[in-house]
Amino acid sequence: SNITVWARSRLLNSKEKQNGHDSFCIRCIDTETFFFKDEKDEEFVFSFDIVFYEQSEQADVYQFLALPVIRDVVDAINGTIITYGQTGAGKTYSMEVENYHLKMAPGILEFDEQKKGLLPRVRKHIQIKLSMLEIYMEKEWTYFDLSKDNIQIKEIKLRGIMLPGVTEITVLDPAEALQNLSRGIAIRAVGETQMNVASSRSHCIYIFTILQEFSRDKRMRSGKLILVDLAGSEKVEETGAEGRVLEEAKTINKSLSALGNVINSITCGLQGKASHIPYRDSKLTRILQDELVRGNARTALLCCCSPCAFNASESLSTLRFGKKCD
Ligand code: ADP
Ligand code: MG
Repeated sequence: SNITVWARSRLLNSKEKQNGHDSFCIRCIDTETFFFKDEKDEEFVFSFDIVFYEQSEQADVYQFLALPVIRDVVDAINGTIITYGQTGAGKTYSMEVENYHLKMAPGILEFDEQKKGLLPRVRKHIQIKLSMLEIYMEKEWTYFDLSKDNIQIKEIKLRGIMLPGVTEITVLDPAEALQNLSRGIAIRAVGETQMNVASSRSHCIYIFTILQEFSRDKRMRSGKLILVDLAGSEKVEETGAEGRVLEEAKTINKSLSALGNVINSITCGLQGKASHIPYRDSKLTRILQDELVRGNARTALLCCCSPCAFNASESLSTLRFGKKCD
């Protein structure tokens, strides 16, 4: 299949420890298997392509999950890497870099080598076009030009999904790419406080278009790499939430289940069970349409989990989402 599913657990974080939530719901049995125990001591076993556990390093995730995808992009096979999970599970840590760095030094990102996530590791000495956009409440905005209008999602014959209105910046080397990304990330962080939007309530999408000259006929060929840091998948208490919080939660749930349904119907389609693929159900799946469906495209889904027993029900639903996509 073109879709691989991975899971990642981490150490208990300081918040979990502070609150005295120090028992675990996830144990790693081997490189492919998590053993899971819920609040009622019911036990489950989950197997994925590879599981990353608390001792796994950022470099492992890059090497095993991302590198094969990136190598293919250079060969003009589009690739998408998606992080899924509850807020605090480790999506942004895996994808970008530790939150702390973003908050302390917006715009001047300094990365602790060991803690660098996928984004700062994506480097290629080839020409790259870069875009960064965010989807909040089914509205998209793009970061390099501060445009906050709805962008258009257009499907053009033979070319596929196009995003007119999304700024593409051409960068020539990894340092320049990183500089532009830091700018985008900083703008996103500022926007967050102004609009009172938490990044965990929106999907963030990084699009790299890699252009490479064919040595033989001098034609350019291009491949796309898309990194998606999804909004938090946690269930909002039906009773407690109201107003905007409830609307956000509903919109997020709708788009995350659209993503699950699209991946699931592609996987079923590959097994000969032809079915309608519901791309149009969310902006997220619409934007990723070409990447998910094309024969020459790859997708890696990283399901991030808190190992803390307190978060057991969210981690269980994350692992189940992963299995549904597997
Ligand atoms: P999310 O983006 O899923 O809401 P974050 O990536 O921001 O969550 O992670 C929440 C906290 O846990 C951060 O402080 C982050 O540094 C820490 N963290 C997450 N994953 C790991 C990991 N694998 N190793 C060490 N710290 C981690
Ligand atoms: Mg995050």
